[in-house]
Amino acid sequence: SCQPVVARPSSRSFAPRIFAARLRIMAESDPVLDWIKGDGGATKILRSAPVGGGCISTATRYDTDAGSFFVKTNWDTGPAMFEAEAAGLNAMHATGTIRVPKPLKVGPLSAYSRGSFIIMEYIEMGSSRGNQAELGRQLAEMHKTSSSEKGFGFDVDNTIGSTPQKNPWTDDWITFFRDHRLGFQLQLIKDQYGDNDLYVKGQRLMERLPTLMKDLDNVRPCLLHGDLWSGNVATDAKGSPVVLDPACYYGHNEAEFGMSWCAGFGPSFYDAYFKVMPKQPGFEQRTELYKLYHYLNHYNLFGSGYRGSCTSIINSYLAVAR
Ligand code: ADP
Repeated sequence: SCQPVVARPSSRSFAPRIFAARLRIMAESDPVLDWIKGDGGATKILRSAPVGGGCISTATRYDTDAGSFFVKTNWDTGPAMFEAEAAGLNAMHATGTIRVPKPLKVGPLSAYSRGSFIIMEYIEMGSSRGNQAELGRQLAEMHKTSSSEKGFGFDVDNTIGSTPQKNPWTDDWITFFRDHRLGFQLQLIKDQYGDNDLYVKGQRLMERLPTLMKDLDNVRPCLLHGDLWSGNVATDAKGSPVVLDPACYYGHNEAEFGMSWCAGFGPSFYDAYFKVMPKQPGFEQRTELYKLYHYLNHYNLFGSGYRGSCTSIINSYLAVAR
């Protein structure tokens, strides 16, 4: 007869192998619980509960006899993403200025598949909307006290949303912003959507950056949160600002306001900020340039609904820089 000869024997031989693999995964201990009960110092898990609100990973709170821990897990990515998040949180934490959760451990979820976790300090969040002036002042303090001996960039690459963000150390700010911020996103738009029109306009803008940023004199690399919008700002139980989920790098401080169109910063925020980090000449002429990076990223992440904003920002700069 014409029965397929491979089907039966192979399915019979597969079954035990799949079963054995499942058993191996079941036998593996849970690396999150292992850490909490090991270095985390807990002997009892009192409660665990999911935490909502994240966009990328699954978040869980663990209450133990050694305090509470906040854990994010992601079955699609290896530990690099969380290692970069931990590096950013550690760098911000080291400035001693604005509150961020202290990262405690990053690792793989299983030896047999992708997936990773990050464990950090659990912060009890308050219900108040927070004090905008305090947020502005503390952010400015972070920018002011941080310093980089290696120029602009960061020790690791990270992600902005889920888009890769490259941070190679670069001496010159305009070069860094042109190549690793605008240029990278424009190339991705061309690759993803074949949008050559926007790409070409973007290249013309990139050539004119030195003219558009001519007021900038001696830019000092400051540690930036990198993705400062309202979803990443909270307050702790005492009402002090907390910032989460960074995409850190050392850059021009004004680039921190690139997500301000989603942040709801009011005048008291900016007044407090500029008291510590005075406004630099030409600030207003650069704000849309710094927003453009994030608009391009939104185009890459969410599609052509953001194309119009990208185009109009680029056009308005091309109209002034001849
Ligand atoms: P994702 O990376 O998936 O977007 P987030 O870092 O935004 O996840 O975290 C998801 C939610 O968990 C946030 O909205 C925030 O309210 C809460 N959260 C984040 N970090 C902590 C923490 N260390 N302690 C308590 N709650 C936290």
